[in-house]
Amino acid sequence: MLYFRLKQVNVFTLFPILFIAARIQPSIAGHMDITIAYFHPLLHPDVVKQDFDQIRATGAGSILYAIHEQEEQRLQRDLERGLRQAQDAGLKVHVSLGRHGNLFAGPLFVPSWYTFRHPQSRVMDRHGRYHEISCFNHQSFRSWLFKEIEHYLTSYPINGILIDEPRGLEVTCFCSVCRALCPDVTDIQRFRRRSMIEFLSELCACVKRVDSNIKTTIALLPQDMSQVEDIATIPQLDTIGCHLFWNMLNEDVTLVEQWGRNVVEIAHQQGKRSQIWLQNFNLDGDSQKQLDSAFVQVQSVEPDELGCYYFWRNNANPAQVWQMTQAYLRRIPRRQLYWQVNSPGQPGIEQAS
Ligand SMILES: [Zn+2]
Repeated sequence: MLYFRLKQVNVFTLFPILFIAARIQPSIAGHMDITIAYFHPLLHPDVVKQDFDQIRATGAGSILYAIHEQEEQRLQRDLERGLRQAQDAGLKVHVSLGRHGNLFAGPLFVPSWYTFRHPQSRVMDRHGRYHEISCFNHQSFRSWLFKEIEHYLTSYPINGILIDEPRGLEVTCFCSVCRALCPDVTDIQRFRRRSMIEFLSELCACVKRVDSNIKTTIALLPQDMSQVEDIATIPQLDTIGCHLFWNMLNEDVTLVEQWGRNVVEIAHQQGKRSQIWLQNFNLDGDSQKQLDSAFVQVQSVEPDELGCYYFWRNNANPAQVWQMTQAYLRRIPRRQLYWQVNSPGQPGIEQAS
């Protein structure tokens, strides 16, 4: 009956409805956005262009680039040009705050310049020993970090900030600031957890204050999964990522699916996007054979986003690993075919890349 009625409706009357319906469902089952970490110098524009074109050709929509404090002081023009090149190639740019305050991970194994120069900001344990990590409850540290973020976001073409494996819970801090904020010693461990979420929340809010369109991501290791539920409550957080690095963590590759499913479920419960990272680095001949299995498991949990690396460190066969990665990414369904007006009144079909 409905079909019969529809037949009597002029197709051009119906077209705007079809157009809107197609637009509001922009993806097909199994579709994932792809982010590729690019941890390489931006000094040689021709090489960078070739790399970004290759990355774009895999279907990736974003790169992840890491800025370390030491680099930003001396490479401003290279950063500006290189990140612009990514956007010119059609890639969104997400930036990781490499080892700022020694609180986050970063591709270079270097200490934080801030923590080195401000030793009084360090975490102090119950025995009065200092640890090489700035306490996120120090207002001077927060002010510096948030100013740095504002500076990056207003100086460089950036679409998102990624907080890479935030640390701070392995040592309960007894510094004077933490003690003043939490005079009840029996509560200080729980206070540490609460204040870490509050710190990350303020960091995400700082990003959104500069530009509400800039995306925020926090990426965790599987062993920090107990924090995911708390992190997922951060209002200004868009995406929860997880590094399913089975090989680096000396775990069985079959855990990848279980880890991944957990993250995807919690992220979706809180209305966040999920991002799962494939360990296509640090692989020898044997572990390289497990990459297939890891990818199939990642794909099976259907995250909103898949992350992997472009020629990243310590592979026995770097070119082979990149070829395998390209082949995996080609297996991910491309975006939905959607209706688009090619000329007035003429519906056409275009495939988004
Ligand atoms: Zn402290």
